[in-house]
Amino acid sequence: MTFENLNILSPILKVLEREKYFSPTPIQEQVIPLILQGNDVLGCAQTGTGKTAAFALPILQQLALRQAVKPKSIRALILTPTRELAIQVGDNFACYGTNLNLRCTTIFGGVSQVHQVKALKAGTDVLIATPGRLLDLMNQNLVSLSHLEIFVLDEADRMLDMGFVHDVKKVVACLPAKRQTLLFSATMPKSIQQLADSLLKNPVCVSVDPVSSASQAVAQSVYFVENSDKEQLLTTLLGDSGILRSLVFTRTKRGANQLVKKLISQGVLAAAIHGNKSQNARQKALEDFKQNDLRVLVATDIAARGVDIEDLPHVVNYDLPNIPETYVHRIGRTGRGGKSGVAVSFCSREEKGELKSIEKLIGVTLSVSSI
Ligand code: AMP
Repeated sequence: MTFENLNILSPILKVLEREKYFSPTPIQEQVIPLILQGNDVLGCAQTGTGKTAAFALPILQQLALRQAVKPKSIRALILTPTRELAIQVGDNFACYGTNLNLRCTTIFGGVSQVHQVKALKAGTDVLIATPGRLLDLMNQNLVSLSHLEIFVLDEADRMLDMGFVHDVKKVVACLPAKRQTLLFSATMPKSIQQLADSLLKNPVCVSVDPVSSASQAVAQSVYFVENSDKEQLLTTLLGDSGILRSLVFTRTKRGANQLVKKLISQGVLAAAIHGNKSQNARQKALEDFKQNDLRVLVATDIAARGVDIEDLPHVVNYDLPNIPETYVHRIGRTGRGGKSGVAVSFCSREEKGELKSIEKLIGVTLSVSSI
């Protein structure tokens, strides 16, 4: 299968060639034709499956082929739960749309609205937004969605986990009833199905890589360790020169800060990303990590959600997550694109219940490691 087989237009094909996307991923193969045909789609897919391009390519293509009802009006809206994901999706739209005459704007909170408002006033075809900032600007009458053609709710499960359901509903209430709606979620609990029922019309459901099946390419193991010994265990593991870059998950922002302090004091280049960090600090940490200037990035789940880091060899669950699906999201950061990855989990006496739930979900008993 090629992107040409999927009837992707040549200006987009040229970009895909440049980006070395040789063939569509399974979610792209399934979803692109459905979106091009105008269907509503309910997609069950995790980050790392190529889901962004699965909706971005056909959206750009449709907007390029169709005449705008009102020039300079917003024609497609993509709502994402986190700022990082908004930026990433915005970058993807900008990249795939390089050869098209369409404008894409990304808006998110935590930074001044001045530049975002300026971009909106200049007119934009595609708006990528987090719910809070979008509502804020809508309330200031700086955003009109009355000519919207396509609406995407990305990472809907995380949107609900983060308590954005009311904000999402407020936005949806302002959208034209006649529109194409796409909803993507890594998991499909009942709450998401209910949301989907209220947003989508006769949707086609597509699912790839069920969340309970962690990638085969990831070697998973667990260390049983007391909470007070976790720092020492991590520094010992990092003492292995084979471990280059690691994404380390902690349960709390405070825990992330403390760990970073400790690592830095031991000479390990580390930084934290979490909700209390400014947007600029988070972006800088992420960039430094991607550029290999940081060895360890310590993250809370919310901050790390949707963040795409290529070639990530190690994920460490310094604390086990309360929600077992989160474990699958976390370790999905490694072992991508045919590469092998390692996911190490630290389990204290208090976390044995969480470990049990995770093992039940993934259907695997993690092998036990020790130093
Ligand atoms: P996503 O699941 O949207 O976060 O995408 C994960 C990564 O896969 C991103 O770095 C994309 O640039 C990349 N990607 C998406 N589609 C393809 C493709 N067809 N071939 C190669 N890489 C891709």
